[in-house]
Amino acid sequence: MNNDALDRLRGALLGEVLRPADAGYDTARRVYNAMIDKRPAAIARCLGTADVVQAIRFAREEGLLIAVRGGGHSVAGHGTCDGGLVIDLSRMRGVHVDPVRRTVRVQGGALLADVDRETQLHGLAIPTGQMSETGIAGLTLNGGVGMMLHKYGLTCDNLLSADMVTVDGELVTASADSHPELFWALRGGGGNFGVVTSFEFRAHPVGPTMLAGFLAHPVDQAEEVLAFLRDFSATSPAHLSADALFIHAPAADFVPEAFHGVPLITLFVRYFGPMEEAWEAVRPLREYGGPLYDSIGPMPLVAVQSMLDTFTPAGNLHYWTSEFLPRMGTEEIAVLAAIGSDLPSSLTTVNIHPFDTAATDVPPDATAFAHREDSWLIHVICQWKDEADSDRCRTWVKNVGTMLKTFGSGNTYLNTTSEDDDTDRVRAFWNDHRLARLSEVKAQYDPHNVLRFNHNIPPASGEAS
Ligand SMILES: Cc1cc2nc3c(=O)[nH]c(=O)nc-3n(C[C@H](O)[C@H](O)[C@H](O)COP(=O)(O)OP(=O)(O)OC[C@H]3O[C@@H](n4cnc5c(N)ncnc54)[C@H](O)[C@@H]3O)c2cc1C
Repeated sequence: MNNDALDRLRGALLGEVLRPADAGYDTARRVYNAMIDKRPAAIARCLGTADVVQAIRFAREEGLLIAVRGGGHSVAGHGTCDGGLVIDLSRMRGVHVDPVRRTVRVQGGALLADVDRETQLHGLAIPTGQMSETGIAGLTLNGGVGMMLHKYGLTCDNLLSADMVTVDGELVTASADSHPELFWALRGGGGNFGVVTSFEFRAHPVGPTMLAGFLAHPVDQAEEVLAFLRDFSATSPAHLSADALFIHAPAADFVPEAFHGVPLITLFVRYFGPMEEAWEAVRPLREYGGPLYDSIGPMPLVAVQSMLDTFTPAGNLHYWTSEFLPRMGTEEIAVLAAIGSDLPSSLTTVNIHPFDTAATDVPPDATAFAHREDSWLIHVICQWKDEADSDRCRTWVKNVGTMLKTFGSGNTYLNTTSEDDDTDRVRAFWNDHRLARLSEVKAQYDPHNVLRFNHNIPPASGEAS
């Protein structure tokens, strides 16, 4: 790398530029998944859009590939790279709420907790994910699945516009009226098209207090619990979210001590509609099967949104897969119960999420997010601490992935899929027709595939390298 050019970049940025010899480089290059150990040539820690423009122009002049880091939570490690420039937005976490229009402007490096913190001051919320430290950028660009999915759809379904810096350093705003093809592609096509410095979302009146908690059942009753959840979900109100979660119960304050470390199937219940309806809405779930413990109670939305953080502290090793199952029949339930009763580490969880109503009411071609069929989304979240367990844990995930594919629709959820998961499946998610359209957008905004650390869409011209 040209040192003069690097010095000029350092002078041009409000933020800092870190090279391997610099103090702080080793901390800055780390991402959430400790399996990912990459060494970028430099990390540009941007403080605003002008910094992003400068960093991109520098990378292009120096012929460097670019990785874009938002929250750094990609389990596939897409927020970093070996040898290229990381454009790190982790210091661009501003959130501005317009309570009158019920819109929220969020910078590209914000975490979900940053969003909830500001929106909840106004009794508003954006549908996002289930853990507070995930980045809004990566989550939105590939979909965004969380507790409000049944009522308000995916995170990307609530996107109104996005400000993006192209790989030529140009500024564009994508919305229904401006660069509409790009706007379509940004809602499900991932980080393929440019660096999004700010998102504008529609917000909804939710919180600040809601009803939530866990209902725990013995893992050997998993088949009955899943059958109950399936039947209950068919008619449950859209303000109610109930997922099944296979866990070893953590030593958290919402788990009675007698159950710490015990393998369980839990129902993670959240009701975010009017409080006066809440207890009645969750009553059938609480009455089912005499739970081992019932931690449901009123609590702030921001507390609910960080409840699962206990399960996923930073610094662990991760390998994940996911699958959409078109139905939850007896065979699927038996397989899921077998998988959930055989977790390879006490940190591993399997999440079974009904995927329907608002998320599937969106017409299939309205956004680039391709899966709009009523189904069940299975996240297999395998994590462990000791590298000696890596082969065993990855093998377990791959075997589980094969079992799930037998029943699957062929679709995986790209945000919860690890890097070397089958590339054909990644492409199949978009299908040929949608992929061709995405490739045209890619060709328009990134014809030389400078942004390739993502679930990559080749530019239509075929200039992939
Ligand atoms: C603990 C944990 C919990 C999770 N929970 C959920 C959940 O509840 N629901 C859900 O849907 N997903 C969930 N995910 C998956 C999550 O959505 C993805 O990992 C997502 O990629 C994270 O986004 P990020 O910005 O943190 O990632 P990063 O690693 O920073 O980036 C990931 C990808 O997004 C691109 N990108 C990031 N920022 C930008 C930007 N500003 N402009 C353009 N491209 C950008 C990158 O280039 C890269 O391709 C979870 C992941 C983890 C690790």
